[in-house]
Amino acid sequence: MKNIILIAPPAAGKGTLASLLKAKYNYAHISVGDLLRDEVKKGGELGQKIHQIMLAGKLVSNDIVSEALVSRLSEPDCKNGYILDGYPRSLEQAIEYEEVLKKLNQDLGLVIVLDIDKEILINRTTGRRMCKECGTIYNIYSTDLKPKKEDSCDKCEGELYQRADDNIESFEKRYQTFLTQTTPVIDYYDNKGVLYHVDSTEKEIALAGLEKILFSEDNID
Ligand code: AMP
Repeated sequence: MKNIILIAPPAAGKGTLASLLKAKYNYAHISVGDLLRDEVKKGGELGQKIHQIMLAGKLVSNDIVSEALVSRLSEPDCKNGYILDGYPRSLEQAIEYEEVLKKLNQDLGLVIVLDIDKEILINRTTGRRMCKECGTIYNIYSTDLKPKKEDSCDKCEGELYQRADDNIESFEKRYQTFLTQTTPVIDYYDNKGVLYHVDSTEKEIALAGLEKILFSEDNID
């Protein structure tokens, strides 16, 4: 399977769609945000530093992100194809990623932008809940993503929590970071002719759109 890069503003559904593709096609799901949150959980000075940057809605420095990413990409499950959720997020990262791909002997694959209105994103951000145990993503304002019980995971009964940066203030900062730092990445891949767009307003329609791209004649190996 071709590797997939998902580019989208905060809370557009990258994580949810990546999980669906993982379950259906056995992709490895690499969420750079999750790798960083794991670092925060470990505590220590580095974890604290990362936590503050994430709360401010800014990008964590490239050296920290690259180290976490390269180590994750070297794991065996990535050999069958992987989904990058939340990387590259700046032009510098897009260029650095090309060097990483050369070293790991991997192809760029497909670059897909998730399109969605800002108003919907605000709702998704404030309503998002995640399972502490298995990472399943819910949304208390959505009929199809609402958990059956308010505080516990439908799959494993783990406790649900709200991400520290899922509030309106952090959202606005993350959204601005997306516009200023990540929009140039979209233009960069567009100019290379490798970019696709999928409307991410409805989960099932977005998944069907992704599958159509994945299995189009141009993209079958
Ligand atoms: P996400 O889980 O994708 O919403 O990311 C949460 C936060 O993690 C972002 O707001 C950034 O602070 C940080 N982050 C995630 N991916 C990257 C990246 N590629 N480069 C730098 N910081 C990142």
